Amino acid sequence: MNIKGFSGHLVRRGDPGFEQACGIWNRAVRRTPRLVARCHTAADVAAAVRHAAAEGLPLAVRAGGHNFAGHALVDDGLVMDLRGLRAIRVDGDVLEAGAGLLWGEVDAVTLPHGLAAAGGSVSKVGVAGFTLGTGLGWLGRRHGLAADNLLSARVVTADGELLDVRPDAHPDLLWALRGGCGNFGVVTSFTFRLHPMRAEPLAGTLMFPVERAAEVIRRVVDLPMADECNYAAVLTSPPFAAKPVLLVTALHLGPPAEARAAMDELRRATGEPLLDTIKPTPFAAFQRSTDESAPEGTRWDVRSEWLRPLDDAAIESAVAAARAASSPLSEVLFRPLGGAIATGPDTPFSYRHASFLVEVIANWAEGDGTRERQWMRETWHSLLRLSAGGADVNHLGLGEGPDRVRSAYSSQVHDRLAAIKQVYDPANLFRSTQNIPPSRQPEHP
Ligand SMILES: Cc1cc2nc3c(=O)[nH]c(=O)nc-3n(C[C@H](O)[C@H](O)[C@H](O)COP(=O)(O)OP(=O)(O)OC[C@H]3O[C@@H](n4cnc5c(N)ncnc54)[C@H](O)[C@@H]3O)c2cc1C
Repeated sequence: MNIKGFSGHLVRRGDPGFEQACGIWNRAVRRTPRLVARCHTAADVAAAVRHAAAEGLPLAVRAGGHNFAGHALVDDGLVMDLRGLRAIRVDGDVLEAGAGLLWGEVDAVTLPHGLAAAGGSVSKVGVAGFTLGTGLGWLGRRHGLAADNLLSARVVTADGELLDVRPDAHPDLLWALRGGCGNFGVVTSFTFRLHPMRAEPLAGTLMFPVERAAEVIRRVVDLPMADECNYAAVLTSPPFAAKPVLLVTALHLGPPAEARAAMDELRRATGEPLLDTIKPTPFAAFQRSTDESAPEGTRWDVRSEWLRPLDDAAIESAVAAARAASSPLSEVLFRPLGGAIATGPDTPFSYRHASFLVEVIANWAEGDGTRERQWMRETWHSLLRLSAGGADVNHLGLGEGPDRVRSAYSSQVHDRLAAIKQVYDPANLFRSTQNIPPSRQPEHP
């Protein structure tokens, strides 16, 4: 089978290398496409979209391949692999980035200019999927979500047309791309606002024994914090600890004296740690420091929830869950909102009022992970009492259905996204994503 106008590389089921071509980060996802179209240009993307639409083939879009639910793969359909779209350019404080890039690759280009994008907290996550969903990263409290920093995009729509999407051209589509996921077209490149970044901001991790975890989390969440400061509190059992611990990973973007004072305050509030790695750290190294907590080639599931302020009971139930987890890489992770996330622009993101994101992540090596996933669901349930209303669209797990996608948005936002979907993709071609059906739903077999 050939694709008219496509000059990339096609890998068909049965071809050598087909299995690698279908490899994504989460090995718990087993789907077998009919072919993988490795795109090198926007014209390849347009050709592949037209082909899938004309042939009635289910279509999936793969960028960084890190989506937990595995939307980058589709059974018996066409996977459009965007990893060949790698153009990248810094012009003043504006970044143009191809849709196939990972955040670590973006850092490598922007940081020598003294600039950083509001990108991912793990360097191997794709720019594309991350930005089109929530895009909550280390710079969020200071500079907003990735989507808040999205200035424009080039998009191939369901009819194969390439659009320049800017505030003055297709503004409805630009709004939808800033959090509405892959529902509206295939983005071939993004432009972002960049922000000044010190060569070595103060950053690192404090580690505490699980016996002190509840007390430390309570103190950290109560600490007044400048928008320059961000942290994650993670209950996990990393290989170097071999038992459950609390990791408080923190970053301060401000001038060295302010950063030192803030980190000293954090140390005073939390007491003696088992380990303290906070020091001046190149931002790229800091971004990579959590990569090993999410290795490729293993199996994962996740439940997430935007939360109101944490109370003692919630903190204690999370700590108890961490102690009961059967897999060392399973974790409970709290991330604060506030700052520029709370005051950000009008986008589909519907939880600017929330205080925290919790991610309950299940990891297992073989089989269907029954025990780990049961642990994950119970832990998540125990925190729902504090729900601010729903899930993070970027942290939806295996088999989470339309109700959970809907919960990621306010009803007004969901209705507005569905209306824009009706305009740009009325046949719901782009449905292998966190799907928002068009307002007048088409029938699919
Ligand atoms: C280890 C790890 C850490 C993470 N950390 C964070 C975090 O800190 N903050 C956060 O917000 N999220 C985080 N995520 C979630 C992540 O952002 C989402 O899962 C996202 O979908 C991954 O994007 P991707 O491009 O890597 O994935 P892919 O699986 O390639 O893409 C995901 C989906 O996005 C859509 N898509 C991708 N590219 C395009 C495109 N060019 N045009 C249209 N649609 C497209 C498609 O529907 C695709 O199926 C993390 C995930 C992992 C695994």
